[in-house]
Amino acid sequence: MSEYKQAGLFDRVASLLDVVSLIPDDISDEEVEGLLSLLPPDTGHTMQALFIPRLRAASLAFLKMVSKWLFAARGAAREGRKVILLPFNFPPEIVHVFGNSFPITSEVLSTLGVVALEGQGERYWDMAMGLGLPDHMCSANTIELGSILGSDDFKPHAVISGAPGGCDVNAKIHEFVAHYLDIPQFILEKPTDDSERGRDLFNKYMRGLMRTLEEFLGEELDEDRFRMVMEKANRCTELYHELWDLHKATPCPVPNLFSLFLYGTRFTMWGTDEGVRTLQTMVDVARERLKEKSYPAEEEVARTLWVYTSYYYDFTNFFNWMEEKGYTHLGDGLDCFFPQPVDTSSMESMIEGVTEAAWNMPMNRQVGGESMSISWLEDIVYACQDLKADCAIFCGHHACKQTWSVASILRTELMKRTGVPLLILQGDSWMKQMTPMSVIQRDIDEFITNVVARKGKRKRRPRRREGQEQDA
Ligand code: SF4
Repeated sequence: MSEYKQAGLFDRVASLLDVVSLIPDDISDEEVEGLLSLLPPDTGHTMQALFIPRLRAASLAFLKMVSKWLFAARGAAREGRKVILLPFNFPPEIVHVFGNSFPITSEVLSTLGVVALEGQGERYWDMAMGLGLPDHMCSANTIELGSILGSDDFKPHAVISGAPGGCDVNAKIHEFVAHYLDIPQFILEKPTDDSERGRDLFNKYMRGLMRTLEEFLGEELDEDRFRMVMEKANRCTELYHELWDLHKATPCPVPNLFSLFLYGTRFTMWGTDEGVRTLQTMVDVARERLKEKSYPAEEEVARTLWVYTSYYYDFTNFFNWMEEKGYTHLGDGLDCFFPQPVDTSSMESMIEGVTEAAWNMPMNRQVGGESMSISWLEDIVYACQDLKADCAIFCGHHACKQTWSVASILRTELMKRTGVPLLILQGDSWMKQMTPMSVIQRDIDEFITNVVARKGKRKRRPRRREGQEQDA
C-alpha cells in the first residue's frame, strides 16, 4: 500500500479544513473560482456547491466550525486529554462538559470523508471489508471506523457507545473498534421500554456513565463548567426552534442544505460558541430570505420531508438540485431530536436535562422506541403536519434493515393519518455504488410529477349519496 493510501480519513479531512478555516468570510466570486481550480475534482465538486452565493455565509460558518472541531480534537490529544469517539446518537455536550476530554463522532467523520475527499469514502470501506467485516455493515460508521482500523489515522482514547437498544449494527462495530484498539468502551443503553420504568432505568444508566467518565478522566464534574455548556446548549435549542418555525413559511426560506448543517452541528459542537455561531448564521440567512421572499426556483413545487437520512455521496449538489427544481427539503428524521431547554439551577437538574436530550437523540427516540413503527410514525406525522409537507421520502439506506422493516407500515399509516404519500427509494446514503444519483433524481421527479403535483390539482369528487348509482 502506498503512503498516500495509508493516510486516514480524519487526517485528510482535517488538513483540508485547515485550509478552509483561512478563507475570509467576504471571499469574492473570483477568489472562489481561483480556489476551486486548485482542488481535486471530487472536493471541488462539493466546494462549488457549498460556495454558491446564496449559501456561502452559512457554508463557511459550518465548515469553520467543523474545522475547529477537528483542530480541537487533535489539540486535546497533544495536550494529553482524552478524545472520545461517539456514535451520532450520543449528545456531544455531555463530553464537552468535561475539561479533560473532547468528542469526535463516527458518522460525521464518514460524511465529511464522503463529501470532501478525492475518492470519497470507498478506500476506507474497503479497509473494513479487508479485515473481514461483513458487507451489510452500515456505511455511516463503517467508513470512518474502517479508516481507524486500517490506516495510520488519528485514534481515539475511548469509545462511548450509545447504540445498544437503538441499532445493533452500530453497537457492534463500535464495540469491535474498542476491542481492536484495546481502548475502553463505555455503554449507554437505551431501554426499549418507553414507560416510567424505562426512563428510570435510562436515568440510572446515565448517572453510572457519568461516574465512569469521572473516573476514567480523573476529573470530577464541575458545576460551573456544566452550567456554562448547558447555557450554550440552551441557546442552540432556541435557534433550532427558530429554524423549525422558519421552515413553515411558503415558499420555504430555509435552504435545503441546512437540514444537514443542523444535525451536523447537533452531533459535534452543540453547547459550544462555535455551535451557537453556526446556527445563528443559518437563522440569519433564512430570515433574510424570508424578508426578501426569495426562492431559488420559480415556484415551490413540492415540500418534502425525508423520514430518516438523505443522500450524502453527492450531497451538496443533490440538495441544491432539489432546491433549484422547486423541491423543498424540510429536513430529515435526523433533525427530529426536538431539544428542550435544560434547567440550569442545579447539578441534579442539569443531569436530568442531558438525560432527556440523550433519550431524544435520533435513532434512540424513533428506532429505539418501544414500538419502532409507532414512535417513528408519530414524529413523522407531527413534522409533516407542522411543516406543511406535501410528500415524504424514505431514502432506503441499504444497511438499515430495521427502518426497512417498518417502512411499508409507515407509508400506509402516514397516508391514512395525513394524506401525505411516502416515496420509498433504494440506495446507500454514503456510497454511490448502490444507486446512481441520476436514478434517484429520476425517481423523485416522477413521484413529484405523477403523484404529488397531480394530487394537488385533483379535484375532490362529490360524495355519493346512499343508493346513488356508481359512476361508470
Ligand atoms: S442508518 Fe440504520 S444501520 Fe446505520 S446506524 Fe442508523 S439505524 Fe443503524
